Amino acid sequence: MTKMKAIISTSDRQADIVERKLRPLKPGEALLKMICCGVCHTDLHVKNADFGDVSGTILGHEGIGEVVEIAEDVTSLAIGDRASVAWFFEGCGHCEYCTTGRETLCREVRNAGYTVDGGMAEYCIVTADYSVKVPENLPSDEASSITCAGVTTYKAIKEARLTPGDWLLISGLGGLGNLALQYAKNVFNLKVIAVDVNDGQLEFSKKYGADILINPLEEDVGTVVQEKTGGAHAAVVTAVAKSAFNQSVDAVRAGGRVVAVGLPTESMDLSIPRLVLDGIEVIGSLVGTRKDLAEAFQAGAERKVVPQCEMRPMEDINNIFQEMEDGTIRGRMVIDFQN
Ligand code: NAD
Ligand code: ZN
Ligand code: ZN
Repeated sequence: MTKMKAIISTSDRQADIVERKLRPLKPGEALLKMICCGVCHTDLHVKNADFGDVSGTILGHEGIGEVVEIAEDVTSLAIGDRASVAWFFEGCGHCEYCTTGRETLCREVRNAGYTVDGGMAEYCIVTADYSVKVPENLPSDEASSITCAGVTTYKAIKEARLTPGDWLLISGLGGLGNLALQYAKNVFNLKVIAVDVNDGQLEFSKKYGADILINPLEEDVGTVVQEKTGGAHAAVVTAVAKSAFNQSVDAVRAGGRVVAVGLPTESMDLSIPRLVLDGIEVIGSLVGTRKDLAEAFQAGAERKVVPQCEMRPMEDINNIFQEMEDGTIRGRMVIDFQN
């Protein structure tokens, strides 16, 4: 039986590298030899037990691996393909959500790196039909970043139902936000207001074409956006802070949509008169379907979206979490399992 190294979360809220044994494949499964796996802020929430203690589970849901073995009945993947390990790891396939294009809301869902072992390991067993193939001309590190950060923000902008030329406010320009910016500019043809408390992130977002930059520590987001644009048509909030959600509600115009993506463990304030009289919509958006991921990959393969990634060794995992908390990361840190 093959042994492998894997990164797990521990009960004292750290990440640890352990040795694990690989079990044989069951029908419908494929074995991926992992190439790389991005580190998402959700991994930090999981490691910190923000959504409950799942210590012992292998972390990671921005995984890209090469198919090295498939169960006899598998037809959706072939040996040699590169494929994803995503947060949406598997749905039941037959419930009201799975059959209506909302499979990420399946009540029986399994999530990689949370309720099932994820992609931060030398090998990962996936349910073949749920693992999305990576297009040939998309580099693996960039694909890893699209597997969560990319698809999540691509889907969130879809949920905002905008028209080319509309104003989109993006709050939080980190791993997710800088990809939201690239999808917004280069795929959806939107004008973008970038909002972040970290000037380094604002500076970084400039090079991807943000039209207006706002640091909420220096300016009032609602006032500036209403003055300069007449109110954003929508906001995608990836920031891990309640204030960012409240500011986004203030910054949209009547009929505007606030798409909630970030997961601070807090509640937002929502004025009922603002909600009702101005017809504001607040929408939660959770990663994306397999089809969304295929589309998000394609934009990467066409070079419309180019995630900025840095490959790091497994041993750096706790440092990466610290850097994420300190706000010093630009783009995405990706764990390299090949070198
Ligand atoms: P990140 O740490 O890379 O980026 C967060 C960014 O928010 C940073 O640039 C930070 O400076 C900024 N920020 C913090 N406070 C802010 C504030 N008050 N106003 C504006 N900006 C602020 O994190 P990430 O990997 O991009 O993930 C962001 C959040 O999205 C996390 O909570 C993560 O769990 C969540 N997430 C949700 C989904 C989903 O499906 N809904 C998917 C992936 C990640
Ligand atoms: Zn994620
Ligand atoms: Zn289902």
